Amino acid sequence: MFNESDHFFTSLGLIPMPDEFWKKSMLEKPKDREVVCHASAWDFFNRKDFRIKQCTVVNMEDLVTAHHEMGHVQYFLQYKDLHITFRDGANPGFHEAIGDVMALSVATPKHLHTIGLLDKVEDNKESDINYLMSIALDKIAFLPFSYLMDQWRWKVFDGRIPEDAYNQEWWNLRLRYQGLCPPVPRSEEDFDPGAKFHIPSSVPYVRYFVSFIIQFQFHESLCKVAGQTGPLHKCDIYKSKAAGKLIGDAMKLGSSKSWPEAMKLITGNSTMSADSLMKYFQPLTNWLIEENFKNAETLGWPLYDWTPALDVVEPPTPPTQAPYGHVDFLGLSLKPEQAKAGQWILLVLAIGLTIGVTALVAKMILRKRRPYKSASELEMK
Ligand SMILES: [Zn+2]
Repeated sequence: MFNESDHFFTSLGLIPMPDEFWKKSMLEKPKDREVVCHASAWDFFNRKDFRIKQCTVVNMEDLVTAHHEMGHVQYFLQYKDLHITFRDGANPGFHEAIGDVMALSVATPKHLHTIGLLDKVEDNKESDINYLMSIALDKIAFLPFSYLMDQWRWKVFDGRIPEDAYNQEWWNLRLRYQGLCPPVPRSEEDFDPGAKFHIPSSVPYVRYFVSFIIQFQFHESLCKVAGQTGPLHKCDIYKSKAAGKLIGDAMKLGSSKSWPEAMKLITGNSTMSADSLMKYFQPLTNWLIEENFKNAETLGWPLYDWTPALDVVEPPTPPTQAPYGHVDFLGLSLKPEQAKAGQWILLVLAIGLTIGVTALVAKMILRKRRPYKSASELEMK
């Protein structure tokens, strides 16, 4: 998997992993000792020792992670000859984005087929939407989470979240941005944020939020110089020396130039923008708007205080028997002729209601469809 990744980087004319990397990295979980398995990449700052530590499992997720970590090492290699002060990313988000940009190409069905990891490539509307949905579940679903992680950390640091509300505030943010509630009751006796590696390890997290936006800007620019003209989700920059040069030149700057300058070098624009991300997912967005409209989905979620039910719900009591000679009609005890009259009234009402609803639906369909914003989008502000 790491050879495959190295092969992809070098196909762009980027720097191959040095011998030391292959000798000293820990790419499999050792059997003889306990290790921290969270994947990481390391620069020993001596210009020759660069390593990855990963308890790699042979699956697609770890293939993407391998590219992610290799992206860090590629960055280390590119700026290794700069003064130590500048041996860093243009900003931390840039460092996180490099490998992911490669993975956006590698994960395309066409590329997986090229390297012998996929037998058959389907190419139709359904396979497109399925592919985009699988990528969105990774890239889009992650955005609100990465956005709230540092909100929580920074509020803890500056005291806006007091010690006796650590867990409560964690779940407030989880509900506000992700629409998630805990599945079992929680209290301040619990410390749920601690289950996320970066919280106890004190790793800033907004870098991943930044990365997940700018990697699509990089992807679009690299695809353009690689001469790829199709939709962004089908672009594969494999073997494009022009794309490799563009991203390599930006990496060579390390942190010697401000990040907007590095951004301008890659994209021609010095700002961070979600336009490329929106463009990449446009076919899926269109499909979702249609489906949500068809199914009259309610978008977003209310900000309510939700607690899981503690008690077992009592089964409803069975209805009491109607007295002899009477029938049970809508919970009322009536004579048979009274119930019959009631049935006729209900039938007339039902017909009237059906006609009314049909007319209303027809009117709605005929009306020009307008784009609408979800409640969650508004909540973000
Ligand atoms: Zn990383």
